[in-house]
Amino acid sequence: SKLGLSFYLANEADTLTLGKKISTVLKPNLIIFLNGNLGAGKTTLVRGILHGLGHQHTVKSPTYNLVEIYKISRLYLYHFDFYRFSDPYEWEEAGFRDYFNANSVCLIEWPEKAAGLLPAADLQINFQILESGRNISIHADTDAGEQCLLCLRHRQNPD
Ligand code: ATP
Ligand code: MG
Repeated sequence: SKLGLSFYLANEADTLTLGKKISTVLKPNLIIFLNGNLGAGKTTLVRGILHGLGHQHTVKSPTYNLVEIYKISRLYLYHFDFYRFSDPYEWEEAGFRDYFNANSVCLIEWPEKAAGLLPAADLQINFQILESGRNISIHADTDAGEQCLLCLRHRQNPD
């Protein structure tokens, strides 16, 4: 099986810092699932990623509109939240298929709610809520995902 990494994040600042680190290893065409309960820190991680990429403005949770779109130089970043998604017709209507392409990174909260429609993930980030802080584990499902994790590991422990 492919590479996995895990982290303990004591507070929101740690989640933002991990997001910034992840932002430095992202490549276009990556699909990343963010798995975890309500309030686990998924949107916070996306906020760290966007700040790491140089986005200066607010990062809203896409809970009501299903997707927030960011363009940072030539990269499109699509932040999905499928918590309120239920009608497969809406997938076609919104043209979501086109969001998954060679110029985009897709970060997806509640992917299980759009199972059968979403393409497979390259990386899955799993959030576990602890009494204090969060455990995060990241695993790669594809070679592209594994390349990112190798870079991330190298950033954590440079030789
Ligand atoms: P939802 O599924 O409802 O969209 P979410 O997983 O996106 O939830 P967030 O909105 O990112 O969750 O975060 C919920 C709360 O958790 C926020 O108040 C945030 O500050 C806090 N939080 C984020 N990371 C940590 C952490 N490592 N330790 C403790 N609290 C954290
Ligand atoms: Mg969220």
